[in-house]
Amino acid sequence: MEKIKMDNPIVEMDGDEMTRVIWRWIKEYLIEPYVDLRTEYYDLGIRNRDLTCDEVTVQAAEATKKYQVAVKCATITPNAARQKEYGLSKLWPSPNATIRAVLDGTVFRQPITVRGISPLVSTWKKPITIARHAYGDIYKSAEDAVPAGAKAELLITLADGTARRIPVHDFKNGGGVVMGMHNTDASIASFARACFEYAVSEKKDLWFAAKDTISKTYDGRFKQIFENIYQQEYKAEFERAGIKYFYTLIDDAVARVMTSEGGFIWAAKNYDGDVFSDMLAAAYGSLAMMTSVLVSPDGAYEYEAAHGTVQSFYYEHLKGKKTATNSTATIFAWAGALRKRAEKDGNSALSAFADELQAATVRTIEQGVMTGDIASISTLENIKTVHAEEFIHEVRARMNV
Ligand code: NAP
Ligand code: MG
Repeated sequence: MEKIKMDNPIVEMDGDEMTRVIWRWIKEYLIEPYVDLRTEYYDLGIRNRDLTCDEVTVQAAEATKKYQVAVKCATITPNAARQKEYGLSKLWPSPNATIRAVLDGTVFRQPITVRGISPLVSTWKKPITIARHAYGDIYKSAEDAVPAGAKAELLITLADGTARRIPVHDFKNGGGVVMGMHNTDASIASFARACFEYAVSEKKDLWFAAKDTISKTYDGRFKQIFENIYQQEYKAEFERAGIKYFYTLIDDAVARVMTSEGGFIWAAKNYDGDVFSDMLAAAYGSLAMMTSVLVSPDGAYEYEAAHGTVQSFYYEHLKGKKTATNSTATIFAWAGALRKRAEKDGNSALSAFADELQAATVRTIEQGVMTGDIASISTLENIKTVHAEEFIHEVRARMNV
């Protein structure tokens, strides 16, 4: 069989622990036998990030801007324990946060739904896609612990040198903590545009929620920018597509989500998106069934699984044990990147391969062959529970290429 050719490379970002292990298997068993794979490889494994003083992460993000399509393996975001474990010279920042900042992108997370796994919320009939604003707020904040007697103010120096001081708190009765955070009109606007664009292309309603009753200026600005862009640029398109834009308060949104049928896109501020995307993942079955794509306003796409490096399984793996790591979302990340590469290059053979890779994975699970994490929640009868590597072989056996 002749392998499928690629005109342009995909930016490949390798990662850590158990996901680094399945990464290699996916390439070796599911992609390289069929595709003459062209990637520009960046090793974002924690050791190489430490070795390169994290330069490699920035280079990978820059390459994504250049080639427009990337696929990323889960990576360790170091904390004190990780620093000790790997002897790191520094607590390097989250690679995802670095990449998001470079690309000024919006993250869309969507659950992979399969027959036999029903969402925990019985009213949900369709997947809910969550769009997380990927810039600013507490993720790019300055914070400090302050002693008793301190006074905290916001100091804003205007371009003409004049200053505005806004009192935050007088710590006369004991110390505490303070934080200063920001966002920019430009980033909020590109977030809004990414969401409206994606809603039109997916023909799904768009919900946006913030807390503008409490945060009248900060969250109020988000609400206003969304509303202006909707009215000026998307209202007519939404009406033509028969979809709706809907703004509500974040607490109301959460309540409505729980009683909805699903099938819409939920645009969320950075922190809300971080938290509620994990809730949605759990409620749809498993973190291992959640896909994630970072979309930049200039059309670069970075695909990944939403879950982390599955640390506990990695230590089992190192002891020579077979683990139940579910590779579904990582396979979907590769399929998504290959399909987007194909779309940008007009490569129909590659596009068909990406569809089949994804379909074979779903077929495998729907035929009752799956890893333990989803076997325990599947309603199918006669389930064959398999280990991580066996699952990948089972998918390969079902690929019609
Ligand atoms: P995690 O790796 O997602 O794992 C959390 C738990 O979810 C696992 O212990 C496992 O549950 C289950 N799980 C997640 N993925 C699974 C899979 N593919 N197959 C089967 N079960 C799966 O999150 P974490 O333990 O909080 O973080 C571990 C490391 O990943 C950290 O160093 C963190 O910084 C990093 N991380 C990276 C990313 C990213 O790169 N995008 C995202 C999140 C976390 P059970 O143990 O109950 O089986
Ligand atoms: Mg999270």
